[in-house]
Amino acid sequence: MRKALPRCRGWTDFVDDWQPRDLILVTRKAPRDQAQKLLFEHHKEAFPDELVPLLYRPRDSRLQNVLVTIPGPDMAKEELVLNDVVEVSVETAQEVLDAKWGQDWALGYALTVHSSQGLTIKDPQKSSTSTSSPGAAPPPDTDGRPEPAYDEAVARKNIGRKIQSYQRVDAAKGHKCNLRLKDVEALKEKQRNRCSSCNIELLWCYEPKDTRQFSVDRIDNAKGHKRDNVWLICLECNRKRGVAALTHCEATKNGGLLPGNVSAGQLQDLFDSI
Ligand SMILES: [Zn+2]
Repeated sequence: MRKALPRCRGWTDFVDDWQPRDLILVTRKAPRDQAQKLLFEHHKEAFPDELVPLLYRPRDSRLQNVLVTIPGPDMAKEELVLNDVVEVSVETAQEVLDAKWGQDWALGYALTVHSSQGLTIKDPQKSSTSTSSPGAAPPPDTDGRPEPAYDEAVARKNIGRKIQSYQRVDAAKGHKCNLRLKDVEALKEKQRNRCSSCNIELLWCYEPKDTRQFSVDRIDNAKGHKRDNVWLICLECNRKRGVAALTHCEATKNGGLLPGNVSAGQLQDLFDSI
């Protein structure tokens, strides 16, 4: 998306223009949570009398189509399903964040693209997208998982292992792989250890299934892992790029994921289809 939309706006610029009823689509949970936190702070200051959207997200997914008590002094009840939005006062929203109204509510300023499938975006609602954590210092994308300790020897071993597997894959396809350990380390430095696609901090020491681990992705898949044809992205983004071909934008309706190389026109089509 960063390639398709090279002139992305900065966070501060975006917030200046933001209104509480705008909808933001994000690609991952960590930037969603970070964005909502910052937007609520801004909402309290800039729009103290405007209502805050709250998302109904029951921990027990069976709690759908049942009468739910809406947070607030009226204690009104409404029949809700997952991802329904209700609007409450700033004071009530603060109570919700302080966990005074249970665990089934979240701020509703931003949704992951995945959660937004099936929702109708009402006119004149504006929608924005974010592929990275807003603000100067995004938090690590831990999703509750602990951050493994960094050990240089382990990191180098992991790089070596991956290079070996890239060599095998490239050889099988008749491609060349000229990557060396120092090339990967140079990329890490150049990208300031961030995923080129979603901007999370990459891990070099990790549990095998940790999707925050680094991977060396080919920019042009018709070529091998050559040092002028690669960048570092996280494993999760690598998997998405693998499964989400451009022609599968349609798949976003059915649980697919937003491809990293979607063009601006296709992005518009995608939004139109949500
Ligand atoms: Zn990523």
